[in-house]
Amino acid sequence: MKYIVYCRKSTESEDRQILSLPAQKRELDDYAKKHNLEIVEVLQESASAYKLGRNKFNQMVAKIQNGQADGMLVWALNRIARNALDGGMIIHLMDTGCLKEIRTPSNIVKSDGSAKFMLQIEFAMSKKSSDDNSESVKRGNREKILRGWHHRRHLGYKFVESEKFGWEKILVIDEERYELLKKAVHLVISGKPVRNVLKTLNNDWGFRTPKTKKLGNKPLSQSNFYKILHDEFYCGWIYTSDGQKIKGNHQPMITETEFDQLQVMLADRGKPRPKTLDLPFRTLISCGECGCTVCMEEKYQTICSVCKTKFASKNNKQCISCGTKISKMNNPTRLHYLYARCTKKKQDIKCGQPSLPYEDLINQISIHLDQLTISPKVVSWILNQLQKRSESQLKINTQSMKNLQSIVDRSQAELETLLKQFTSPENADYSLIGPDEYRNAKKQIIEKKENAETKLVDMKQQSDSTYEVIESAFNFAVTARDKFEKGDYQTKTDIIRYLGSNLVLKDRKIIIHQRYPWLFTKKVSESLQNLRSQGLEPERSIDLYEKNGIEDLAISTLQGYQGSNLDG
Ligand SMILES: [Zn+2]
Ligand SMILES: [Zn+2]
Repeated sequence: MKYIVYCRKSTESEDRQILSLPAQKRELDDYAKKHNLEIVEVLQESASAYKLGRNKFNQMVAKIQNGQADGMLVWALNRIARNALDGGMIIHLMDTGCLKEIRTPSNIVKSDGSAKFMLQIEFAMSKKSSDDNSESVKRGNREKILRGWHHRRHLGYKFVESEKFGWEKILVIDEERYELLKKAVHLVISGKPVRNVLKTLNNDWGFRTPKTKKLGNKPLSQSNFYKILHDEFYCGWIYTSDGQKIKGNHQPMITETEFDQLQVMLADRGKPRPKTLDLPFRTLISCGECGCTVCMEEKYQTICSVCKTKFASKNNKQCISCGTKISKMNNPTRLHYLYARCTKKKQDIKCGQPSLPYEDLINQISIHLDQLTISPKVVSWILNQLQKRSESQLKINTQSMKNLQSIVDRSQAELETLLKQFTSPENADYSLIGPDEYRNAKKQIIEKKENAETKLVDMKQQSDSTYEVIESAFNFAVTARDKFEKGDYQTKTDIIRYLGSNLVLKDRKIIIHQRYPWLFTKKVSESLQNLRSQGLEPERSIDLYEKNGIEDLAISTLQGYQGSNLDG
């Protein structure tokens, strides 16, 4: 088989963590040598794959059509295409047998049915935000770290593209900040309080963070200063995401001995006080007995080291039994619980519900999330609905785009006519059109033209989000438990809010009334039985949804999920 190597990197923000062109080429060269691939041509391109009409891409397509090559070798599939038309062209080349194989260093895609589906998804998934987390970016970052270069900018350092390192972006000293920061860190090492050093750095030395698009140019915050003081990067070490420790190529700010010294000092002084805990599930759970809100409460207890009495110590500073001050106790046992309990606010009902420890609560919800699944029939039905919609939307868009394009064309013609008129010999005395008149008329036409052009660009960018919506729903069903368990309080709360409008705590059991029981069903047959008895069995009730106009609800639900931050 004959392969074409295709490397691409754009200047767009989502490509900033992708390997440089020479680095892509180097890796693919190595791969080809290792696997004995015959390379007939190497094409490199700096262009966005959102746009049509890429030069080298078109060359590659032509060569494959002419039979000069029948395989492609790329660093990652998203290097090939990010728009439906170019993606469709590649799939067409596979369908017609011109293109037999696409290889990446981690994957071989052969021209069969499943490959086609995979490519469609891959090319349609052009959602910018998710790209930062994509497999290829992670792989790129890892390789970069293994070569001793961190992929994230660190304060005091900046990126340059260095010829010596194959035009790779590497971290070098940021002259504006490195020396100031170094001086500040050494002041801390010499024993000055962190807070005072930070004041000196920001106020007396005028330290400011680098300017970025939205943020930056700010004094260094205390939390970020602490991050620097605890970051081994500054004494020359970097880590891969799976914890492999690598000696960095960047110039360290402090020695390892100084770093160790610093850690001991900071530990002695105590870490900065954590922000007050924001408790989860606020107002989302109600009591199954009295209907009051269930709140989350923290309990602090201390066991006195002298008399072994256990007492609430949130406000008490001394033992309630023997009066020993906590600060004077020798290593007392400190306990901290978080639990859910009914607020019991109703005067007329004497609610006897016990509280539930936080861990139990989390456990019960996790088990529920683990059983969630989304019925394939429901998915295909929603997919159909969305397809129908996007087709009619496409018709409308095509017409609007034609209209807009003709406004642009007409404006261009008007501008030319106007200029001809203004500069014609008959207008030498401004009898036809005066200078002010000309300027005004020109301004109006240009405004009209620019307006239409902006709308055109917007419209072109409105991509069909069908795949993304469906993928989100799958993702939710598949990953909800994991995200719930690993996520912070906010994520946990968001998932619950999304899933069920009604959580009830009764006799230490959480009952979840799902808002859309037919959308996410439980895997266990028992709950399917329940749904059936309510006429909500998902696979047979699709007619019912359509009759009742539930499709809008289904689609907006899924899109609501997509719009939330849950897939972060
Ligand atoms: Zn209650
Ligand atoms: Zn005591």
